[in-house]
Amino acid sequence: MKLICTSCGKDYSMDGAYQRCKDCNEPLEVEHVKGKIKDSEIVWERFSDFYPFVSQQLIGELSLGEGNTPVIRSDKLSDELGNVIYLKDETQNPTWSFKDRGTLIGVIRAIKLGYQRIGTVSTGNMAASISAYGARAGLKTTILVRSDIPEEKIYPIVVYSSNLIEVEAKFGEIYRRSLEIGKETGIYFINSDDPFRVEGYKTIGFEIAEWMSKGENIDYVVVPTGSGGLLRGILKAFLELKSSGVLSKIPKFIAVQAEGCSPIAKAYEKGVDYIEEVEEPKTIAGAIADPSPPSGNEVLRKLKKHGMVMAVSDHEILKAQRMLSKSGIFVQPASATTIAAIKKLSENGYSGKKFLCVLTGAGIKVLTAVREMLKLEGFSIQKTTLEELKSALKSN
Ligand SMILES: *Cc1c(COP(=O)(O)O)cnc(C)c1O
Ligand SMILES: [Zn+2]
Repeated sequence: MKLICTSCGKDYSMDGAYQRCKDCNEPLEVEHVKGKIKDSEIVWERFSDFYPFVSQQLIGELSLGEGNTPVIRSDKLSDELGNVIYLKDETQNPTWSFKDRGTLIGVIRAIKLGYQRIGTVSTGNMAASISAYGARAGLKTTILVRSDIPEEKIYPIVVYSSNLIEVEAKFGEIYRRSLEIGKETGIYFINSDDPFRVEGYKTIGFEIAEWMSKGENIDYVVVPTGSGGLLRGILKAFLELKSSGVLSKIPKFIAVQAEGCSPIAKAYEKGVDYIEEVEEPKTIAGAIADPSPPSGNEVLRKLKKHGMVMAVSDHEILKAQRMLSKSGIFVQPASATTIAAIKKLSENGYSGKKFLCVLTGAGIKVLTAVREMLKLEGFSIQKTTLEELKSALKSN
């Protein structure tokens, strides 16, 4: 098997720690494989045909139980939006986001290459996920963050005893330098669109396809998009299933970004092939605020054929987050972009379509967003005395 450049097609040996193309600097991906979905309770066993390069024994040793997340149909959201809404609830992963699926495969890759140290560049879900799996695997783990990281975000990372370093630089620069310095210092950086992280994300696509094979159908998969790694992984799963003859048709994809940091959506609107870095990203959807998405150009290439890109505002995101919480599902702003995008589409003539939203991460990690959401609604806590409790309840 080989690693292949997503842009120029140059190939690289699987034995080297290659992550991006030496010629065009675009992301590499693992050569497509064919296979069948098997019968098993365990995710990695069911889809093992599509992971011939991964040791099942290491999966057994290092898995924390990622995947097997439910698809939930929301009648309330379907009624409100005039389209059928299914929710793939990725908040139910070991560290409360889909990142765990990719982290496991990335960590196994690092171990196979002989690394004893791993790292990542992230302020949020990926940092927590890498810290958790690094701890489980007994690897020394380094997390690079920008120096303006809010204190609230530090604790869910360092709780796993990883080594967190604040770096005074732009996010994109830290990403680029980490890949170079990592190779010199013996740290395998499992960043947002590492080829093996993307492989792990394929399981979301396989699970959706399995669910569809029971008679469900969808027109669109809606994916919150920052670096582009997640979208690439889900789409790759569908493409592999199609070339394996398991599926005849694949759904369209909608990548959603936040208006305050939407380099991929901007390039898509302009019809250009390359993204431009966003100078001052500003959005409540921190988990997708990647000012220079390392897989942005590849997302543009892929969606020319397989879908489209949209952007939604913070106000729309907070309202969508509230709509989801009224259906009993508490996601972070990044994940709520999916519902905000469908709301926009429904106002522009889409109706009766079937959408599956990937709800990427749990709301409990970003409580400051709830404060913003409640501010919009003028929320305040009701107070009373024991004597007046009865009348307070009556008037409620
Ligand atoms: C990482 C993340 C995304 C975006 O994934 P990319 O692979 O960077 O495109 C979306 N939502 C949440 C909650 C995330 O943590
Ligand atoms: Zn290339």
